[in-house]
Amino acid sequence: MKTTQALELIEKEITLPSPPAIAVQILNTVQKKESALNELVKIISADPALTGKMLQVANSGFYALKSEVTSIDRALAVLGTNVIKNIALSFVITTDLRGENQSSFNFDDYWRRSVTSAVAAELLIQQLNQKNDDIFVTALLQDIGMLVIFMQKKSSYSELLKHSTLTEQSLVDLENNKYNFNHQQVGSMLINKWGLPECISVPIGYHHNPEAAPKNNQQTAQILKFADQISSLYNEKDTAEKVRMLQGELADFFSLDQNQVRFLLDDVADKSVELLKSFEIEPGKMKPYSQMLQEANEELGRLNLSYEQLVIELKEAKEKSERLAHELKDINLRLNDLAYRDALTGLYNHRYFQESLSQELSRAARYHSSFSLILFDIDFFKKVNDTYGHPAGDQVLINISREIKKTVRPSDIIARYGGEEFAVILPETDATGVKVFAARLRRSVEGIITHVDQQQIMVTVSLGGTTFHPEQSEITKDHLIKTADRGLYMSKKNGRNQVTILVAENSPSS
Ligand code: GH3
Ligand code: MG
Ligand code: MG
Repeated sequence: MKTTQALELIEKEITLPSPPAIAVQILNTVQKKESALNELVKIISADPALTGKMLQVANSGFYALKSEVTSIDRALAVLGTNVIKNIALSFVITTDLRGENQSSFNFDDYWRRSVTSAVAAELLIQQLNQKNDDIFVTALLQDIGMLVIFMQKKSSYSELLKHSTLTEQSLVDLENNKYNFNHQQVGSMLINKWGLPECISVPIGYHHNPEAAPKNNQQTAQILKFADQISSLYNEKDTAEKVRMLQGELADFFSLDQNQVRFLLDDVADKSVELLKSFEIEPGKMKPYSQMLQEANEELGRLNLSYEQLVIELKEAKEKSERLAHELKDINLRLNDLAYRDALTGLYNHRYFQESLSQELSRAARYHSSFSLILFDIDFFKKVNDTYGHPAGDQVLINISREIKKTVRPSDIIARYGGEEFAVILPETDATGVKVFAARLRRSVEGIITHVDQQQIMVTVSLGGTTFHPEQSEITKDHLIKTADRGLYMSKKNGRNQVTILVAENSPSS
């Protein structure tokens, strides 16, 4: 849709409101040039409320005058006709184009945004070391097309505004799609019709796409765009991403460093708050930009902190659970041990012996290897107990256990089979080996002296042994035990303190 066609359409569809009466007077007066000053003073002075507001603005930090101005004459002399005209117009238009706030359109919000935008534009122009007396009113009125469209097409435009906010789609695009014209064009036309100069109406027509503006209006249109973005920073919830982008663009365009950008944005907030009061618009919660930034950073800091805290806690929890798992493993090992150990001697118990023997038997059968088994029993142990007492007997059991532990290999399993009877499993040990081992065991027990109450207790043992040969696949655990036990019995019978090794038989007799 071409601009000219859009303008024709606007003419047809939109009734552009007349300018406020005082605005007309002001504009006519300024155009006359001669005697403009006096006329302007008269018009403004005729309206005490307007006069009050004008002086308020003239004395505000916005113009930073050296001394206070107390009359419109003086304000005109100091600020110039154009500035006074523009301030007056701003007041007159914003007062006139106020309506009842509605859920679909909040006039206060609209003018708050516009005033902030005007302040931003003024401060941006100063950054370029340029003077543009019209920039304030231009930015103030840049979105006036929205007001006009809303007044004519209330429900459809409200919907469109809501849609644009929700979907973050460009308002201009949505307007073009729906009406075949947009608020830039409507605003520009209105300003033109009201008799304001082209340096105001043209940039307004391009404040969303300054690159499309005629060359000598491009910069103003660009400033309007920036001003609008800064204003939305304060009046809408912009994402941190948008804020960062704007900060970067401002720094580039105006050749500022990040601190200068922050200072500029803070200045916009400060001066807007001051001016909004004069416009009788509640400034609302307009936080200084640096405060917003600080709060955002603090929030980020808190998030980081809690993130770091979380990591530490997780790490601690992990370490703790690892420690617990380790302890648990330890405890389990100890429990296991307890379950398989004899409390008095610390040797493996009967249960462990039985399990180990089964394992050793299947292992030897599988790998075709031999292993041997020895059972041995203390000779006349009853007598030891009877002579020295039961605790002394215990001590003998403990000493023998400790000593024989030293004679076995780590792979050998030595267990307390019962009262004063012991068992040794000797993996990878054949008939010759078991003979040698049993003889050594017998001798070593012979040499053990248990000291009790200045007395020395010495005992002997009788041993019985057997060897499992891989070719005896039919031999069971019971065969082995019974054979060894038979050997032990024979050693006892033959005089004790001796070794009897027998060959395991398929059907052992008891
Ligand atoms: P033999 O040479 O025929 O084996 O004679 P012995 O006296 O050793 O055999 P017997 O079976 O008659 O007696 C075994 C004794 O061992 C009886 C029992 O009180 C004692 N005994 C068994 N367990 C323990 C123990 O844990 N501590 C003590 N002090 N004595 C035990
Ligand atoms: Mg005995
Ligand atoms: Mg016995």
